[in-house]
Formats: sequence, structure tokens, C-alpha cells
Amino acid sequence: TKKLTGKVALVTGGSRGLGAAIAKRLADDGAAIALTYTTSPQKADEVVFAIESAGGQALAIRADSADVEAVKNAVAETVKVFGRLDILVNNAGVAALAPIDQFSMDDFDRLVAVNIKGVFVATQEAVRHMGEGGRIVTIGSINSDLVPFVGGSVYALTKGAIAGFTRGLARDLGPRGITVNNVQPGPTDTDMNPADGPFADGLKKMIALGRYGQSSEIAGMVSYLASPEAAFVTGASLKIDGGFAA
Ligand code: NDP
Repeated sequence: TKKLTGKVALVTGGSRGLGAAIAKRLADDGAAIALTYTTSPQKADEVVFAIESAGGQALAIRADSADVEAVKNAVAETVKVFGRLDILVNNAGVAALAPIDQFSMDDFDRLVAVNIKGVFVATQEAVRHMGEGGRIVTIGSINSDLVPFVGGSVYALTKGAIAGFTRGLARDLGPRGITVNNVQPGPTDTDMNPADGPFADGLKKMIALGRYGQSSEIAGMVSYLASPEAAFVTGASLKIDGGFAA
């Protein structure tokens, strides 16, 4: 048996980027996977197909993380289809960059709704179903620790919120044997931050390893944190940034 055989994981924003890599990796580890998406049903189906083709179980659910009822429904649907919920990966996230005097209220509300409120709702609902050994992993960002460019204040605000939420939650859920951790990637090659995008050259100069991370590398850390072996890691914010913050 594999390390997550018999477990069920819900990955928010699993249709592309880090979430798709995490969904596939946890499926390789033996977990049944529910993944959410908003705008890319076809991409979500491709992830489901890839997992099923490799012999795993997967389900795609349309659920905007900014929509409280949709997120609650995604958790309920996961439990209804797979019978339990052991691992929640709060991955869905959005970015918007602008200096403070130009930052729109709409963008502010959207970042807070998806990156903070969506994480709160998914977590609150998921832990109703989790037992001893449950796992919550949220994808924060290295930008909660350092923001070496103009325009990242609101994104950093939301990711900093995740770091604090993780510590408090670890205290709430420790007595139940549920761990809570915050994975903080540095620049990672996805649609949100392509390794050949407009910011890439400037960012690469700040990375000790001189290159972007790959989604599969972030998925490897999530796989560890989701596993039984990581039972003593909780309340932690863990950098995986190629030395960006070194
Ligand atoms: P992408 O933009 O490449 O992919 C985002 C994924 O999240 C897609 O699957 C998208 O679904 C989904 N998503 C977006 N908004 C919502 C929403 N409102 N409800 C549900 N799903 C949603 O981003 P990344 O993979 O790069 O980012 C994933 C996470 O990692 C984010 O939290 C991001 O902040 C964080 N991060 C990324 C870094 C990077 O350099 N790439 C660095 C540090 C952190 P759909 O396909 O339907 O649009």
C-alpha cells in the first residue's frame, strides 16, 4: 500500500498550476482526490483524467472559493462521494499587483475573499469531518515574509494572514491530532507567474538557485506534510523558495 492509501484529499484550485500538481501527487501517493475550479472545467477534467488513467480516483467540483455556499458544498460533495475527508489543501489563490494609491477596492475584496475567506470557510467545514491524523495544508507565499518589489502589499497582506491563521489553528486542532501547516513557495512556474513572464528575469536574480521552482517540487513538500510521517509538524510556515529569502 502507498502512504495515503484509504485517505481522501480535497485540493482547492486543482485545475492548473500548483493545485493540479498537488492533486496528481497526492493521487500517486494513494489518496482519492476531490479538486475545485472556477473558470477551467476542461483543465479540471484533464487532471481527473490523468489521475484516473494512472489508476486513481478523482472528482472535479466547480466551486468559487469566494462563494461561501459553493465551498461548503464542495466539502459536502467530497464527503458524500468518497465517504470521508482526511486532507484539505487550501491552494486556490489569486494575485493582483499595484502600488497602494492605485490598488482598486474590487481587487482588494477579491484577494481577501479568495485568499483569506475561502481558506477559512473550507477549513471550518473540512475539520467537521476530520478525525485523528487529519491534515490541513495551505499554500501561502514567501511574500508573507519578504516583498522585494513594488505593488505586492495586498497580496502579502493575504498571505501573512495565512501564516497567523495557521499558528492559531494548530492550537485549536492539536488536541484532535490534526496538523495545520503553511507552505510558502517562492517564484514557481505557473500561469500566475510564468518562468518566462515579465517579472521572471528580475526575480531569478534574487533566487539563490538562479531558477524558478517547479509545481512538482512544491507538491513534494505538500505530500510530506499530508503524510503520517509528518505528524509532529504543525503550526509551521515552511519556505520552499530556492533560497529567495536566504
Ligand atoms: P494559477 O493562477 O496558475 O492557478 C490557480 C488555480 O486556482 C487554478 O486551478 C484556478 O482555477 C484556481 N482558482 C483561482 N481562483 C479560484 C477561485 N476563486 N475559486 C476556486 N479556484 C480558484 O496559480 P498558481 O498555481 O501559481 O498558485 C496556486 C497558489 O500558490 C496560490 O494560492 C498562489 O497565491 C500560491 N503561490 C504561487 C506562487 C507562484 O510563483 N506561482 C508563489 C507563491 C505562492 P481555474 O483554472 O478554474 O481558474
